[in-house]
Amino acid sequence: MSRYAIAIHGGAGTILQSTMTAEKEKAYTEGLREAILSGETILKNGGTSLDAVEMAVRLLENNPLFNAGKGSVFTNAGKHEMDASVMYGKDLTSGAVAGVSHIKNPVSLARAVMQQSDHVLLAGSGAMDFAKKVNAEIAEDDYFFVQMRYEQLQKALESDSVVLDHTEDNFEHGEKKFGTVGAVALDQFGDLAAATSTGGMTNKKFGRIGDSPVIGAGTYANNKTCAVSCTGHGEFFIRSVVAYDISCLIEYKGLSLKEACDIVVMDKLVKIGGEGGLIAIDYNGNIELPFNSEGMYRAKKNSEGDLFVGIYK
Ligand code: ASP
Repeated sequence: MSRYAIAIHGGAGTILQSTMTAEKEKAYTEGLREAILSGETILKNGGTSLDAVEMAVRLLENNPLFNAGKGSVFTNAGKHEMDASVMYGKDLTSGAVAGVSHIKNPVSLARAVMQQSDHVLLAGSGAMDFAKKVNAEIAEDDYFFVQMRYEQLQKALESDSVVLDHTEDNFEHGEKKFGTVGAVALDQFGDLAAATSTGGMTNKKFGRIGDSPVIGAGTYANNKTCAVSCTGHGEFFIRSVVAYDISCLIEYKGLSLKEACDIVVMDKLVKIGGEGGLIAIDYNGNIELPFNSEGMYRAKKNSEGDLFVGIYK
């Protein structure tokens, strides 16, 4: 059997052990575990990295703990507008959706854009028309209603602030985190893939779109270099073209994955105030999970090693 590897994230931010309950920690750990093992099973059985990242992200989207799919945060108008993207390193094909509502699994719609349209990024009502055409699974408002998210919106409305999932004065248990989800994988054929999905920011308006559906910013995959999925303050990640920057440092400067991640996450992003992190895997299956925030929900597994699940620094 050839080597395979997979990593996932469920968001980064101020996630402190001191403010986490044992029960909540267990629920997050279990959610991450379940998602990564579902992706790993596909890789172990000779499936593609594309199938593995889609499956892992779908499970995270179905879990209300994470800010994607079911657990997506509320917009200013009390709705859910989700962004997602996917990219295949084998041929650089990619697909993304932005500002979609009522889609149960935005990552699968992004994959449909990649494989069943001539486009890369579809947004808003046009994306919804496309969703109907490809029979994407639709869910009603009550599926996306999560009490904790609703309370976050009420607090954000009071202070008229736009908040990244949980921010300091808008969250439970004193944690500040970005709850976007993502996965990267290398399959036994040597092909890389990345996927990212998010509900964006609580109280967002004016059709705000973050980095998650922007190929090169929140998501990138190229068999020559690496696959990357980001989480954090999207505006900074777009300005830094984070995912592609890591790939470029490997391709044009010959850096290792670790060196590239250190420069981008721990130096370049920090200098402009871009809080967050990412998961990355290179063509050899090396994995890096860097973040410049207090914590990041994350997990990794490869064909030889044990499962690692982490939350704190
Ligand atoms: N990057 C996402 C955005 O800005 C947020 C997150 O990672 O939680 O929309």
